[in-house]
Amino acid sequence: MRLKSIKLAGFKSFVDPTTVNFPSNLGCVVGPNGCGKSNIIDAVRWVMGESSAKNLRGENMTDVIFNGSVNRKPIGQASIELVFDNTDGTLGGEYSRFAEIATKRRVTRDGQSDYFLNGTKCRRRDITDIFLGTGLGPRSYSIIEQGMISRLIESKPEELRVFIEEAAGISKYKERRRETENR
Ligand code: ATP
Ligand code: MG
Repeated sequence: MRLKSIKLAGFKSFVDPTTVNFPSNLGCVVGPNGCGKSNIIDAVRWVMGESSAKNLRGENMTDVIFNGSVNRKPIGQASIELVFDNTDGTLGGEYSRFAEIATKRRVTRDGQSDYFLNGTKCRRRDITDIFLGTGLGPRSYSIIEQGMISRLIESKPEELRVFIEEAAGISKYKERRRETENR
């Protein structure tokens, strides 16, 4: 599994549709302070289903929508699409047969949030499901942001356990058991 591209539109500082391509296994985003590097990481976490505005450095979920600048008016919606190469079938469930998987999230000013998998509308859960156990997810260890190492070191045993279970591939089975028990 490899992230091939990120398509941003109306998300934070990316008001115009922008595609960021990652043609190889190693990519690097460089630029001056405030140019939007961290916004790209926020975008990845957001599509994965991040539901805490605080974790995206905002106060409300609609804060991710471009809110205007000196020359531009605020706009009505934000969307992000992540395109993954899945030729190795890492991304799970019924989607493992797809060589390419595109996950998309869209939010409008009235707070309506929609998710799409390969162009078809789906639930948030469908997105979180296919990434369970892959190490990728809104709070997974694939994204190591500023301050995360010290947070990990200082975390309580039960918080640390969540990371270890994800790394060991147990989390998806635990999630399924929880679902079954709740039925
Ligand atoms: P640094 O090198 O300091 O970490 P960075 O490249 O990571 O900087 P970001 O934090 O990604 O920068 O981007 C910050 C910019 O994004 C700020 O200029 C901020 O005004 C802008 N921004 C954030 N949210 C929005 C929004 N909803 N609408 C418009 N601009 C936004
Ligand atoms: Mg930054």
